[in-house]
Amino acid sequence: MVQKSPSRKTRIPKIKILFVASEVVPYAKTGGLADVAGALPKALAELECEVAIVMPKYQSISDSKYRLSPLISQMWVPMGMGDVDASVFQSFIGNDQVPVYFIQNNHYFDRDQLYGTSDGDYQDNAERFAFFSRSIFSLMKELNWYPDILHLNDWQTGLVAAYQKNFYRQDAHFSKMKTLFTIHNLAYQGLYPKYFLPMTGLGWEEFTADRIEYYDQISYLKAGLVYSDCLTTVSPTYADEIQTDEMGSGLQGVLRSRTKNLFGILNGIDQDEWDPAIDSSFPYTVKNLKNKQEAKRKLLAEQGLRYDPQTPIFGLISRLTNQKGLDLIFDILEPFLSMDIQLIILGTGDVRYHQMLEDFKNRFPEKIGLNLKFDNRLAQLIYAGSDIFLMPSRFEPCGLGQMIAMRYGTIPLVRKTGGLADTVKNFSPNAKESNGFVFENYSGPDLLSCTKKAVEAFHQPKLWKFLIQNAMKCDFSWKNSAKEYLKLYLNLQKS
Ligand code: ADP
Repeated sequence: MVQKSPSRKTRIPKIKILFVASEVVPYAKTGGLADVAGALPKALAELECEVAIVMPKYQSISDSKYRLSPLISQMWVPMGMGDVDASVFQSFIGNDQVPVYFIQNNHYFDRDQLYGTSDGDYQDNAERFAFFSRSIFSLMKELNWYPDILHLNDWQTGLVAAYQKNFYRQDAHFSKMKTLFTIHNLAYQGLYPKYFLPMTGLGWEEFTADRIEYYDQISYLKAGLVYSDCLTTVSPTYADEIQTDEMGSGLQGVLRSRTKNLFGILNGIDQDEWDPAIDSSFPYTVKNLKNKQEAKRKLLAEQGLRYDPQTPIFGLISRLTNQKGLDLIFDILEPFLSMDIQLIILGTGDVRYHQMLEDFKNRFPEKIGLNLKFDNRLAQLIYAGSDIFLMPSRFEPCGLGQMIAMRYGTIPLVRKTGGLADTVKNFSPNAKESNGFVFENYSGPDLLSCTKKAVEAFHQPKLWKFLIQNAMKCDFSWKNSAKEYLKLYLNLQKS
């Protein structure tokens, strides 16, 4: 008998993905994770995936601004100490293609900040994110929506994988579900004293070195690494680096043991959100850069600094932490500022860096613009109005700043590590694809000589224009990376 070929009209069922993240643009953001969580699901929806996002409902998320509507008035989340109640709100992103579910519990999430204040992390973060991780199973049941893939992100969601394997394996709705865990930054591990274990609901048999114990503490990140079916990180170079003793943050052994299931996929940027042609008050394109100069003028006026088109502006937008190479900048600050340059900084973070930067601003008031805050509007103006974007990171899983800067024709100056190594091509006279300046060793003198090279190049207009064009032509859209994630999801689904 001849088999009928499937009708052309037969629809291949869409792969279903639930994206689980503790911060998502535009609702809440402390760093690059939020950018990824806001952009990748949209790119997946464009590839015909059925994708939803779940995140906590923080105090800062305005119901009216983001059109949140109540969806589930009460659901129960089983925790070690008993059932805890939650409610769920809903909104949409990506032309209403991607639902976003917000888990509300005022005790855990109705606070000023996401993770802690300047005094340190909230004391009950272990409980807050165990609750969030467990709540997603209650959510799926309530929605009667069972995705093929749970895409987890960073330590805040590490327990999801452990919960699925421990509590839901026998349930037909969950048993075939696959987990993919993305490491956005291995340095943040969600390490907690073991007395929190009963609260999570997991048993003591989980508290072993090959599961979630890390030197007598519970590691939420390790739970994600051990229990997820597949691991990714946000650039190919970082995927290699984290398996080394030098850069594995103590988890290199676990990562090496999972090397066959560990992939590096470069982050993209949301090219609609970051687009000099439309969202700047001075729109410009690679073909007409005139308005970039106007952005520079406006930036300097706002910062109370002198405008001179011949003086290059270095921009720095960063969390102010040990990771970002600030100590290198401090090491060289005097010789660096003795050049005819200006430095505009936007960042928040460690109190000691705030103090040091304020001190430098007092010493060099006419050279430094200092903004110790989180400010999306100003960030966009700095990306547009600067000439050189400074990112001398000690390590950098992917880094979005350098890609956003390139989109705005601002030339990145970076250290060769992680995603910076994968995206910035060092200038050399014969390198046709140069789009920035790269130094290799984590050393002040190497950073200084790199800044000198960049300043020299800035003063050669033809060369500078060539670099700007190369930078602006780079394609950092999510399209390619989303396809790579989709490939992984499909492989996981088959396995
Ligand atoms: P990380 O995730 O380590 O903080 P990334 O470079 O991957 O670093 O992403 C940082 C993101 O946060 C970028 O979008 C950057 O523009 C933004 N950002 C960092 N600090 C600030 C700030 N103070 N104000 C506004 N945006 C900021």
